[in-house]
Amino acid sequence: VAMAKFYLDFTVEESCGKCAPCRIGNKRLHEMLQKITSGNGTIEDLDRLRNLAGVIKDTALCGLGQTSPNPVLSTMDNFYDEYLAHVKEKRCPSHQCRELTQYFINPEKCKGCTLCARMCPVNAITGDKKVPHVIDPQTCIRCGSCIERCKFGAIYVH
Ligand code: SF4
Ligand code: SF4
Ligand code: SF4
Repeated sequence: VAMAKFYLDFTVEESCGKCAPCRIGNKRLHEMLQKITSGNGTIEDLDRLRNLAGVIKDTALCGLGQTSPNPVLSTMDNFYDEYLAHVKEKRCPSHQCRELTQYFINPEKCKGCTLCARMCPVNAITGDKKVPHVIDPQTCIRCGSCIERCKFGAIYVH
């Protein structure tokens, strides 16, 4: 889903604006993908996404517009379960969508070294020395710093 959005970033930027399907349609497609990747998408949005992508493909004037919805259509054809996970479970299986990623500490692996707690920019991690630490999901801003620093592989995303 994030990859489809990545390619549309490019098309929206490069569209010359001559025809409405490409100029306006791709912006709407991009907005829908933004909504889905931020966890606010619905199952109806998926139908709208596919329909609009088909209309743009069929009606845009030149090759740029006609091929611009391909990343949306091909990812929907081949990875529809990922789209469903975003709208139904508010989860990004590929861990690409920041808003849909949550960080956890595995208490069985955590040694309580305190490193992650000391370097978390928003103090979202608590725990005493040599005791498994915990991440507060409400405070965590999903910067990903802790997962890179833990030497024991105790932090994971879901
Ligand atoms: S499809 Fe081609 S002509 Fe139409 S706005 Fe896009 S780039 Fe311009
Ligand atoms: S850096 Fe890893 S081992 Fe150390 S407290 Fe954090 S999660 Fe536990
Ligand atoms: S992802 Fe960033 S904000 Fe969240 S707990 Fe880890 S270091 Fe703190």
